[in-house]
Amino acid sequence: MQLLHNVYQVGGDVNGITWCGMDAGFEDGNTYAISTPEGVVFFDCGNGATLPQIFDNMRYWGLDPELIRACFLTHAHWDHAGAAHLLKARGVRLYAHRNTAEAMAIGDERCCGFAYHKEFTPVAVDVAFEDGATFVECGIKIHAMHLPGHTQGCTAYFFTLEGKRIVACGDVIGTLFCGDFGWSGSIDFDKKIYMESLRRFAREDTDVMLAGHGISYFHQPRRRVEQVLNAALMQWR
Ligand SMILES: [Zn+2]
Repeated sequence: MQLLHNVYQVGGDVNGITWCGMDAGFEDGNTYAISTPEGVVFFDCGNGATLPQIFDNMRYWGLDPELIRACFLTHAHWDHAGAAHLLKARGVRLYAHRNTAEAMAIGDERCCGFAYHKEFTPVAVDVAFEDGATFVECGIKIHAMHLPGHTQGCTAYFFTLEGKRIVACGDVIGTLFCGDFGWSGSIDFDKKIYMESLRRFAREDTDVMLAGHGISYFHQPRRRVEQVLNAALMQWR
């Protein structure tokens, strides 16, 4: 699904773009592909079972899966990062916050495979970073903001493309029809830390939000973050 001139959603079962045979609608997080003259950059990669569908979707939109250069992981959950080992085998550079990278290297409960009755295949991330790291991939300057809470490694990525400030935020907030919390079932979920992350995230103005599940926002995405922060302030006192 084309979102902007060079931004595509190529995976995600809530939108019906991919489907892995289970029916809850949260088995395959959203995968975004940014097309550049130097190659394709991914944000998250789905659970692995859907990677052939993601590649088919790319080909439909004229993107070559052979040209994927890098994948930025928002967190270690199976539905977002389960395909990372398959991308790594294809020579794709994997980026993740240090905490996410540690979870993915072990593939333990923090990756939540158990929630889907699946094994998370461990994988070594190529670039493990800390809060505030900035990278240039395929000519795009990408800024990482560590926003723990849903998991301890949750990260949002900010970049500017076509004059728009864009954020790929994973499950820091959920966006089905309105702003909502990311799932609170992770063993490393932490309300207090999550609240601080929401406060920090709510200070950021963006033009486009690419969420971890559900729909993208093209109009005042910050409002959705504020909605979640408000709910957290009221419910988590
Ligand atoms: Zn998650």
